[in-house]
Amino acid sequence: MATHHVIIGGGPVATNALETIREFDDASQITLICDEPPHSRMVLPYWLCGGGPREHAHTSDDADFQRLNVNARIGVRVNRVDPTANSLELSDGSSLEFDNLLIATGSSPLKLPIPGADLPGVQTLWTLADTENLLKATDGSDQPRVLMIGAGFIGFIMLNAMHKRGWQLAVVERESHVLPRMLDADAASLVERWLGLKGVDVHCNTAVQSITQAGDGAKVVELSDGTKLQADMVIVATGIQPNLDLVQGSGIDMDEGILVNDRMQTNFGHVYAGGDVAQGSVLFSDRPAIQAIQPTAVDHGRVAGANMAGHETHYPGSLSMNILDVCGLQNASFGNWSDPNAKTTTISNAAGNVYRKLLWTGDEITGALFIGEANDLGMLTDVGMVKGIMQTRTPLGSWKGYLTENPFDIRRPYIASKVPQKLVKTTLLGRPAKMRQFQFGGTQPTAHVSAAHGVYVGTKVQG
Ligand SMILES: Cc1cc2nc3c(=O)[nH]c(=O)nc-3n(C[C@H](O)[C@H](O)[C@H](O)COP(=O)(O)OP(=O)(O)OC[C@H]3O[C@@H](n4cnc5c(N)ncnc54)[C@H](O)[C@@H]3O)c2cc1C
Repeated sequence: MATHHVIIGGGPVATNALETIREFDDASQITLICDEPPHSRMVLPYWLCGGGPREHAHTSDDADFQRLNVNARIGVRVNRVDPTANSLELSDGSSLEFDNLLIATGSSPLKLPIPGADLPGVQTLWTLADTENLLKATDGSDQPRVLMIGAGFIGFIMLNAMHKRGWQLAVVERESHVLPRMLDADAASLVERWLGLKGVDVHCNTAVQSITQAGDGAKVVELSDGTKLQADMVIVATGIQPNLDLVQGSGIDMDEGILVNDRMQTNFGHVYAGGDVAQGSVLFSDRPAIQAIQPTAVDHGRVAGANMAGHETHYPGSLSMNILDVCGLQNASFGNWSDPNAKTTTISNAAGNVYRKLLWTGDEITGALFIGEANDLGMLTDVGMVKGIMQTRTPLGSWKGYLTENPFDIRRPYIASKVPQKLVKTTLLGRPAKMRQFQFGGTQPTAHVSAAHGVYVGTKVQG
């Protein structure tokens, strides 16, 4: 009998896992179960800002599943996992047996426990349905007023998309500065100043206490410092939690997420987990952590898929990284950027919107922060090179002293320490990844490549 692999989810973990299984094995049976159409959440901001149609977020369709010989059960939820009986309980009342299982259920936005959080016009911005809802609610309005509660990484990705549409934006963050889990206070002050220049109204150090509806339908948002703000739509972006309901009481080990080893296996060897729902190894830390970012999800999916197909693969751990465009100001943070024990090299030019901080453990870069304007192409390549140095865990030896004196010249230590040669040889599965074959139904992007980026990546600038 052919092995039966079952995958729960339809995000990047699931997509990469099933394609990887098929790279190694044509004969097995694969079933994918997802309550949403398979898609990439990372593409939602492009849809929101008008940069492409909804279809561009989709990552598979019936033809693709047929090509990969996958039995896709879309619109169905898994209610319960039994790893001992190798069976699942599904929302349509049926059950399903598996040989190998991958739990790739992702995460969901936290609810806001305050009065008014369930009013119409107050919503999260995480799913296809959320994005569609916001677009419908603002349709026909030239400059809707949108207030975002929470100034974190994902919230700001969507804020940037709304800024591109020219909407009137306000942000409330209960911590002392924006992007508190991505930037230190000095870096965040540059971002806050920039947002002010771009017309975004920022309120930090204050919490939303209630939301009420005025006679004209506007939402009145009351803050703990007494301020009252008005908005047409309120977006709740106060954090996420892994989707663990289906494994509660199953015997699968969990901490903050499902605990996995370096093959993405849980404490049941035939049950795997990956992505936002999994707590696995991370670079520069002994403690497993959830890294709710796309690159980790892709890696987890490929490693899980390879192991499920019998191709033993070990994951070195993911690099914590957030790279973000805030209304034209580029921000990047890597690794242990807030490590109080690390030695630091910092350069700051607030007037020029430049901030750069390298964190050292011995002669290794174990954390980094970057801020610069979108046309600062040197900064963008430096971000890539520091990421490469960190991902390959290259000790910089005497180049540490050089970089401390010349933090804008990353290229020399990068080349001299042979990081490119290491990166070229680095593959997750011991061979180059295959290109995905899924096409977006023939649709074309409508966003134009900017002149600066066109020159840089050698892409022809349109119009
Ligand atoms: C708007 C937005 C923008 C983002 N942009 C970036 C970015 O620029 N860079 C970056 O690194 N990361 C970004 N992220 C984060 C990134 O999208 C996630 O880390 C990634 O999607 C996680 O992948 P996953 O496969 O673990 O889960 P998901 O992509 O969330 O997929 C899980 C799927 O499983 C389904 N599911 C859950 N429970 C069940 C169940 N019981 N039964 C059946 N189906 C179930 C869910 O509905 C969902 O469709 C963004 C996220 C959002 C929301």
